[in-house]
Amino acid sequence: MMISVVFVDRDGTIGGNGHFTPISEFVPYVGSVAGIRALRKAGIQVFALTNQTRIAAGQLDEGELHQSLLELGCSDAFICPHAENAGCSCRKPKTGLITQAHLKYTFANEEAVIIGDSYRADMQCASRAGILGIHVATGRGDAGRTNVDGNFVECADLAAGADWILRHNRLKKRGAYHG
Ligand SMILES: [Zn+2]
Repeated sequence: MMISVVFVDRDGTIGGNGHFTPISEFVPYVGSVAGIRALRKAGIQVFALTNQTRIAAGQLDEGELHQSLLELGCSDAFICPHAENAGCSCRKPKTGLITQAHLKYTFANEEAVIIGDSYRADMQCASRAGILGIHVATGRGDAGRTNVDGNFVECADLAAGADWILRHNRLKKRGAYHG
């Protein structure tokens, strides 16, 4: 398994409570920033992947949100700024943000992972895009599991998800040495 891109949800995955938290009040979970840093150090791109209806509502500045995600260690951020009923193609579980990432970076979906706390948004987006989903127990936890098809890796939190990815990447590399 070769992973080159990891998408991470913000609210309930990097930190916060699973719902919107203003930038100034957003506290990452223990290990989230270190986990993102460890992935980056291994040469993996980490892209934030987030729905933020507050931008459409005029309660949040997209540029400031983008900058705050870079400050948490992400290499880039893909944000749906639209209202829930706007009918856009980028609100998770739709895959428009993944398409946007493909326009900017070269990677295969087989080399990508989506880490998120929401089955309905994050894991369903992963299923639809053919990307491996890692579900974390922080944020929304088990809510919505029964309505979403797919097999996902279950991890306690973002730090554990990053560990899982690095372990599986290492196995691949070790295998390659032995042909
Ligand atoms: Zn959108």
